[in-house]
Amino acid sequence: MEKFMKKYLIFFIFCLFSLTVFANSTIKRVRLNNNPPQLVFDISSTVKPKYNSSYDEYNRLIFLEIEKVKMGTKLNSSSLSGKNIEKIDMIDYGSNVGFFIKLKKGSGHRVYSLSNPHRIVIDLKATNSSKKEFTVAIDAGHGGKDPGAIGFNKYKEKDIALAVAKKLQTKLSKDFNVIMTRSNDTFISLSERSRIANRGKADIFVSLHLNASKNSSAQGMEIFYFSKKSSPYAEKIASYENSFGEKYGEKTTSIAQIMGELAYNKNMEKSITIARPLNSSLSKRLGMRDRGIYGANFAVLRGFNGPGILVELGFITNKSDVTKLSRDANQNVMADELANKIRSFFY
Ligand SMILES: [Zn+2]
Repeated sequence: MEKFMKKYLIFFIFCLFSLTVFANSTIKRVRLNNNPPQLVFDISSTVKPKYNSSYDEYNRLIFLEIEKVKMGTKLNSSSLSGKNIEKIDMIDYGSNVGFFIKLKKGSGHRVYSLSNPHRIVIDLKATNSSKKEFTVAIDAGHGGKDPGAIGFNKYKEKDIALAVAKKLQTKLSKDFNVIMTRSNDTFISLSERSRIANRGKADIFVSLHLNASKNSSAQGMEIFYFSKKSSPYAEKIASYENSFGEKYGEKTTSIAQIMGELAYNKNMEKSITIARPLNSSLSKRLGMRDRGIYGANFAVLRGFNGPGILVELGFITNKSDVTKLSRDANQNVMADELANKIRSFFY
């Protein structure tokens, strides 16, 4: 009993101590240094202030949260904005204070803390933005002698797939190395597509297609990833897409799955991570039916050594879908949403 009381007392004293300490932590000043360019948070505190930060690459937004502090100064956003910072906002959570710092293009974002006196510093020195970390392989389905599915108003799958692929390439090129399995109307076999992506050490493989059905009312968007197991429906779509390979003389069953079992599971998991939010946001933005995501044995995905998705952008045999898919503005929306989700997959 005595032991318990002692523990309890120690805990109580600790709490009291913590309260006094934390209550004393105050952000005294937020200032900008010119050379080197730095944003500095001066903090008066008896303990080293804790913080965490994250960076949204796409929006160039740093989120910095400083724990157990009070804001003891007014944040003057306009005097802090300039060469490196576009805008800075603050949220006081009561115990923690959060800052949203929107950077200008090319600004760095290294966050660290210094003591004596306590400071949290964000280095804003320009980074070498020409270095691109990740590689995306974009695969426009079919091409050349293989038109893919031919649908309503004689639209060809290969043309719409290529149009979206090129727009996606433009949108990704500034932040990613992009590999196109084809950039014009040429025929490329299924095995060659994954080989091109593997050779280029792509980090993800995105294949663009349009679905087709004898039932012209079938419509909507769906995304597939490589899986050895599949539902009868997904299997049907996979064998339909694989049949184009067979039709042009390729034995698609001979395309080997080159990833080992461990990589296979990991890649499948990663593919699902991007497929799910992509399908729902993409269909929402275009007002199309969200048909869901499925795993199936797609020959073109099987040969790639990494996560991969095959997007069926809509039904070429459905009047409403193809009207949307053939419009330049909508293709831009598609490319935009694909690029968004690819970005958030990596960053
Ligand atoms: Zn196709």
